[in-house]
Formats: sequence, C-alpha cells, structure tokens
Amino acid sequence: MSELKFCQGPDCHTYYTQDRLKGMKGSKTYQTRRRSSMYYGGGNFCDMRCQNDWFRKYGDQAVNHFGRITEAKHLTEDNAWDKRYRWNYERNNGEAEHYYLNTITREQRPLTESQYNDSNYTLNER
Ligand SMILES: [Zn+2]
Repeated sequence: MSELKFCQGPDCHTYYTQDRLKGMKGSKTYQTRRRSSMYYGGGNFCDMRCQNDWFRKYGDQAVNHFGRITEAKHLTEDNAWDKRYRWNYERNNGEAEHYYLNTITREQRPLTESQYNDSNYTLNER
C-alpha cells in the first residue's frame, strides 16, 4: 500500500467538505486532506484551490528563494526551432509532413516522423 501524504494547502482544513470532517461524534474536526496521490502542484495539493492558496501565501518567498528573474531572458535564432507538422495533399497518401520551423527567421527544414517524435532530437543548442 502506498504511503498517504497530506495536502500542503495552508487552508485545506478550513473547507467544509464531508471527506474532511473526521473523528468520533462529539469530537469531529475538519482535517487536512490525506491521500495516496494528488494531481495538483507536482502531487502536493488536493485541488487547484489549495495549490492557489499555497502560492498566494508562499509564492513570493519561493520565487525569491530560487531566484527571481530580474531581466528579460532571450530566445535567439539558434534556439528558436519548433517542431511542426502539416497535412499536404500533394504528397503520397496525404501523409503529414513534419518540419522544423525557426520561429524567428521563418526558415523551414524537413524532419522525418521519427525525428519529430524523438524528444531528444533537436536543432536547438540550449
Ligand atoms: Zn487541500
């Protein structure tokens, strides 16, 4: 059996849902949700509201801790290649045509379908 994790939402226990209400009659409390898997915020939050609560409360601190972006980053021509495909009815069987598009220079280069599907194949230098 997988281990149960607590939702990290700071206010999770304050939302009135039946699944949060636990304990014996006379000593019931609303409690932070606990689950084997959660689908929000990298598996840390039970729902979008708890994820947003966390960010509202701690987001600034987290961004400052891990490094606030203080100037524009630049995506140059060398890294502006984007995989695309289009239907071309002049080709055999009307197959999809795969290609790389440089989104700055608008240059196009042909791609094979396997290169298109290979997430490691790239023209970008990054
Ligand atoms: Zn929650």
